[in-house]
This record gives sequence, structure tokens and C-alpha cells, in this order.
Amino acid sequence: MSPLRIAVVGAGPAGLYTAEAVLKQTAADGADEVEVDVLERLPTPYGLVRYGVAPDHPSIRSIADYLRRVLEHPRVRFLGGLCFGVDVSRETLLECYDAVVYATGATRDRRLRVPGEELPGSAAAAEFVRWYCGHPDVAPASFDLDAVSVAVIGAGNVALDVARILARPAADFPATDVPEPVLAALTASRVESIHLISRRGPAQAKFTPRELRALGELPGCDVLVDPGDLDLDAFDPTGASSEAARADRRIRDNLAVLTDWAHRPPQGRGRRVSLGFWRRPVELTGPDRVTALRVERTALDPRGRLVGTGGCATLPVQLVLRSVGYRSVPLPGVPFDERRSVVPNAEGRVLGPDGTPLPGEYVAGWLKRGPTGVIGTNKSDAAQTVRALLADHPVTAPTSTADQPATAPSAADPTARRPRLTELLAARGVRPVSYDAWLGIDRRERELATELGRAARVKLSGWAELNRAAGPQGRTTGPQERA
Ligand code: NAP
Repeated sequence: MSPLRIAVVGAGPAGLYTAEAVLKQTAADGADEVEVDVLERLPTPYGLVRYGVAPDHPSIRSIADYLRRVLEHPRVRFLGGLCFGVDVSRETLLECYDAVVYATGATRDRRLRVPGEELPGSAAAAEFVRWYCGHPDVAPASFDLDAVSVAVIGAGNVALDVARILARPAADFPATDVPEPVLAALTASRVESIHLISRRGPAQAKFTPRELRALGELPGCDVLVDPGDLDLDAFDPTGASSEAARADRRIRDNLAVLTDWAHRPPQGRGRRVSLGFWRRPVELTGPDRVTALRVERTALDPRGRLVGTGGCATLPVQLVLRSVGYRSVPLPGVPFDERRSVVPNAEGRVLGPDGTPLPGEYVAGWLKRGPTGVIGTNKSDAAQTVRALLADHPVTAPTSTADQPATAPSAADPTARRPRLTELLAARGVRPVSYDAWLGIDRRERELATELGRAARVKLSGWAELNRAAGPQGRTTGPQERA
């Protein structure tokens, strides 16, 4: 019998946890008649673990070591450098595989939609994150950190990551894996003041206490909070903020951290992070690049809606990083809910326009549920999708074929006739980046760290460096250049 063939699109945590769930759930059934191809646009696996997790969070980065075991499983194959919709279409995947799982995450940033947002000096935090993580799509010279004052807008963990990286002493970075040009910019940084701006209050902030606390642990940095912002009832006549603080331990822990900072006198350290709640950006201004951010005071009205209260202040800042969430991009030919920026699905089964599941199509991760949760959330999410997939495409242990009912759905005949994706691609002159080519990149990054006397790894930056390290099995251009 031919094995069940599954394509997973995206080699980030959602995609690799999906591959792992396939291996685990089929092994639990005593069946191993399954093959998983993981397709990835980049020549590198691990998605946000590599290009999203902050470099000063090595323990979260080490999830890559766990996911590596999935990629190296004999029934899993990495096919890098393949852009969905450019190199390979939905139709081709459905022709070649019994099931396709889309797990491409949420790669686009949300906008503020205020005047001046397009000025130089205004950028998405997502772009800044990709820059310090060495993502090849972001030029190493994208950020020079000439700004003395920076505003970071948003009350989520990405805003905390960005503020912390800006506030961290330069001496900490050689021990991380940031690329050399990023290390040079962080070392030369002139940043003194970081304003972390939240449009609602501490009870509504999405921060997690561990990430919030880390901001106060930076040497050489004061953290400032206006005690008035922490009066939950002052800005919320509905009482919901106080109620949320009573009911939710995360909010209580955040409030304890913030209250401690609010009562700590500033030490006059070289850098400071000011957390401002109940302030929303209304305009970025400057003659030819950002020189100021205008913010308006806000509150909740008696119906719990966020409203401006009129009082405005102008912050002199030279860099504004909006950290107001991510959104997924539609995949060519795949249904997409524009309002929620997800692929419509029921427990991971992709739903067509009439609301019924499309045969053989599944979704996992942020593309399935939106950009929420920590990396580990993708594990249970992927397991749910794979349960649905295997319920639709049962695989059976080779030894138990005699027990199979004659009518049981079987992958045998159609699978045997399915074309091989790599053969179709080869006929068009498209050659995926192999896992060995990725290992070439991995090896070069470790060697570079040794040569420079830095951490365990120093990221290569830019397509040219990645392709050189990938060797002949790599690509000569990035997928975006071919698009
Ligand atoms: P997030 O948690 O959804 O936070 C987005 C923030 O942007 C919210 O505070 C939101 O405020 C605010 N916002 C949205 N639109 C706005 C606007 N127009 N003006 C001002 N503020 C606006 O998103 P995220 O920080 O990008 O994080 C994404 C996910 O990754 C989260 O699940 C996060 O926990 C996770 N993550 C985890 C870690 C970690 O564990 N170390 C690190 C990074 C990211 P409202 O609530 O008022 O809409």
C-alpha cells in the first residue's frame, strides 16, 4: 500500500508541530504508513522561532532543537525555497498529496491608520523584529538607531520585546546570535528614551508578567510608570477593569509589577522606558521624517467603548514602531476570511464558501486561529488539525490490513497514481532547497560564532550570505526576487 502523503506549507512552529502530530498520532495507531513534506518559502526552517523570538530569549529559541528532531525524522522531508503561489500552486499540491495543511502564520503587520504613518522613521515592530533576527527579506541597514527617543505603540509581548532590545545594554548583544551589522547598529545606538504607549489600561494590556518583569531587570535602565494610570476605576466607569483584575491572575501580576515601578524613584540611569497607558496615537509629524508623535488621552465610556478625552500631548521622537498585532495574508486559491484574517475552518478543516469542508485541505497555527498564544499553543492546535486530517484519511498498521473493512477509505490507489512534487518541479527547472543545504547554513552560522568569539551561533544576514552558505543545493536568488 502507498503511504498517506501529506504536504505541510510552512516550516515554522505550527507546520513542524503539525508534522510531529502526524508522526505521533499515526504511531499511536500502530501505523507508520505516512510521509510528510514540509514546504517553506525560506531556505531556513523554524519560522518565528528563528525570525521572531528575541535574541535575548535563548530558552525559547531552543525550541528549534526540539523541532529539529521532527525535521530529521525519516518520514519527514524539508523542501525549502518554495513559495506557495509562485513555485507551487494549491492545485499542484492537491494533485500530489492526499492532504495539504496550510501553516504560513501571520506575516503582515497591522496599521495604525493615522496621518504621518508613512513618514520615514515610522516602521512596523514586526520589521524591526525581523531586522534584529537577521531575516533575509529585511536589509541589514534598515535601522541605524540614530534616534534618541523612540515610541513603541501597543501593549503586547512584541512591544515588550522591542522595547527591551532597544533598552538593553550593547554589551549584552555579542553573547546573542544577532547578525554582525545588527550588533554594530545596537552598539552605536543613541537611544536614551523609549515610550511604550498603550491605548487602554493595565487591565486590558496583553503583556504576560514574565515578559513585563524582564523590562525592569535591565541594568542601566529606569522603568517609569505614572501611578495615576494604575487607578483602574478612574478610566473605566463600567468597573470591568477592576473585575478583570480580581478574576485574572495575569492582570493582577502585571499590576503588581507596574505598581512596584510606579513607586520606584528614577535612578537617573542612561536609558529609560516610560510606560504610558490610556494614550492613543493620533498623528506622526515631521518635515521629511518623524520628529514627533501626538497622542490623545483616552478612557472607556459607560458602555465600555474606547473614546478620546481630548487632552493631547506631543512626544518628541525620531522613531515610531507600531506593535499593534500581526495578520495573515491570503494564500492564492485558498479560502480566506478577510474580516478575521484567517482561513475559515472547523477544527482545522478548511471550509469552502458554502461552509462545508474542502476535501484534503487543512490549516494550523496563526493562519487558523489568528495571531494569539505562545509558541507552545501551536502544539495542541496542530494536534487538533491532525486529528481531523487522520479521521478523514485513516492510516492503518501494515500488519492489520486483514482487519480492514472493505469499505474503509484507503489512500492506496489514488496515492499510487499521484505525481511526485519534486519531479513536477524538476521538469520546470525548480529545485527546492534541501535539508542538507539548510545544515550548510546552520554550520556556517556556528563557525562564524567561533571565528568571531561570540555566542554559539551568529546569524547570517541577507540572501547572498544564506545562499553562499547553502552551497550548490541552495538557491541563487530569494523567492521574493523570483515573484
Ligand atoms: P497582541 O498581544 O495582540 O497585542 C497587540 C496590541 O496592540 C494590543 O495591546 C492592542 O490593544 C494594540 N493595538 C491594536 N491596534 C491598535 C491601534 N490602532 N492603536 C494602538 N494600539 C493598538 O500582539 P503582539 O504583541 O503582536 O503578539 C502576538 C502574539 O505573540 C501574542 O499572543 C503574544 O503573546 C505572542 N508573543 C509572545 C512572546 C513571548 O512569550 N515571549 C513574545 C512575543 C510575542 P487593544 O487590546 O486595545 O486592541
